[in-house]
Amino acid sequence: MVAENLIKIRSRIELACRKSDRNFNEVTITAVTKTFSSELANEAVEAGIFDLGENYVQEFVHKKKELNDDRIRWHFIGHLQTNKVKFVCGQVDLIHSVDSLRLAKEISDFCLNTGFKQNILMEVNTSEEAAKFGIKPGDAQVVAEEIMRLPGLNLIGLMTIGRFSEDAEESRYEFRMLKEIKSDLEQKGIPLKHLSMGMSNDFDVAIEEGSTIIRLGTAIFGNRDYKK
Ligand SMILES: *Cc1c(COP(=O)(O)O)cnc(C)c1O
Repeated sequence: MVAENLIKIRSRIELACRKSDRNFNEVTITAVTKTFSSELANEAVEAGIFDLGENYVQEFVHKKKELNDDRIRWHFIGHLQTNKVKFVCGQVDLIHSVDSLRLAKEISDFCLNTGFKQNILMEVNTSEEAAKFGIKPGDAQVVAEEIMRLPGLNLIGLMTIGRFSEDAEESRYEFRMLKEIKSDLEQKGIPLKHLSMGMSNDFDVAIEEGSTIIRLGTAIFGNRDYKK
């Protein structure tokens, strides 16, 4: 089932790229494995998806150990508490969810002690919904400049979560805003490679607006059962 879903997803990616005159190779799928078993995660790996994303520290640590596969690039995409930085920093290729300067400092300090530089994205709360984490759009520039001064980090892009809605078009404005923030930062001398935006319900629109990393759970693995 995972392999079949991926075929459908890839053709949707292709269509969105064609519509927006982009290259298919610019978009990477991160398979979001939260609540799904290691067996299912492994099916994605066997189908050629080597980027896996997790939201919860405990589940990440467990799944990384259980899968024990060097081909996998792990992504941390959930809210990270500062006291759990040590379980994630240096263990993942990319932390998407750096949602405060305090967290960025904590990660940088941890990295300095271990002689490692962590790749990160700055999470921006483009919809300004109260229930969401992330830097306010108006603070993005100041915070990004502060992050650039932290020696333990490589800031390589921005991340956002579209507003929850049945209609993906409703997230277009936020995706466009993230791309504009990226352009503004680049004009201030902060070059950024990635825009992590787009989930199962809105990835087509996110690609049209410039996404380079889409984060897909349900579209690949089916519905989640949070009771597990
Ligand atoms: C769960 C989650 C996803 C994947 O969501 P789907 O709707 O299942 O594709 C992507 N990004 C973040 C931050 C998530 O928490």
